[in-house]
Amino acid sequence: MKTAVFCDFDGTVTRRDVGYSIFHHFSGGRNDELLPDWKAGRMTTRTCLTLEAAMVKASADEIYSFIDQFAVDEGFVPFVSLCQKSEAPVFVASDGLDFYIRHILGKLTLEHLMLETNVGKPENGGLTVEFPHENVSCRRCGVCKGERIQQFRKASDDDWQVVFVGDGYSDACATREADLIFAKKDLERYCLRNNIAYLSYDTFFDVSRQLVERGYLSR
Ligand SMILES: [Mg+2]
Ligand SMILES: [Zn+2]
Repeated sequence: MKTAVFCDFDGTVTRRDVGYSIFHHFSGGRNDELLPDWKAGRMTTRTCLTLEAAMVKASADEIYSFIDQFAVDEGFVPFVSLCQKSEAPVFVASDGLDFYIRHILGKLTLEHLMLETNVGKPENGGLTVEFPHENVSCRRCGVCKGERIQQFRKASDDDWQVVFVGDGYSDACATREADLIFAKKDLERYCLRNNIAYLSYDTFFDVSRQLVERGYLSR
C-alpha cells in the first residue's frame, strides 16, 4: 500500500487556530462578525480572509512575536519521521496563510514539507492576502483541499491511499476525496452530520498508532 498524507495546519498541527487568533487579536475581535456567514457557507473563504486581513492593525514584529506563543501537537514531528520511514509524502494543506505556517514549521525544522496554502504578508502596519491557487470547481475554499488531493492523484500513476487529518469546516471538501479521515472538533461534527466515516483522534500520537495498526505506515 502506498500512503500519502494531507493534513490541515491550524488546530491540527498547532493545538489552537493560529490564523483565527491573529485576526481576532489584531482586529480587536471584530473578525468574529464575519464567521457565522463563513461557517454557514454564505461567504467564501477568499472574501472572509480579505475582510479579516483589512481589519488587522499591527507591525510585522508584533505579529511574529504573537505567533511564537502557539504550541504544536507534540506528536507531529515524530509523525513526520514515521511517514518518512514509510516513504509516505506529507502535505500541509491549509486555507490559512503561508507566513505563519512557514514560521512555525521552520522552528520545527520541517520547512521541507510540501505546503498548499494562501499567501499573507505582514506589511505596512497590517496584513495583505493573496490567493495564488485557482480552484477548478469549488466556489467556497481559497485552497480547496479536495481539489488538491484530486490533483495529486491525477499527477501520479500509482494507486495512493490518501489519509487526511483535520479539525474544521475548511476541511470539508477533503472528506469527499480522502480514503481515510481523522477528524476532531468542527470536522468531527461535520462528518457526523453528513454520515461520513472517520476516525477520531486528539493528537498525532493517536494518528501514528492507528495508521501503523491499520498497515498504512510501518514502524
Ligand atoms: Mg483547522
Ligand atoms: Zn473546496
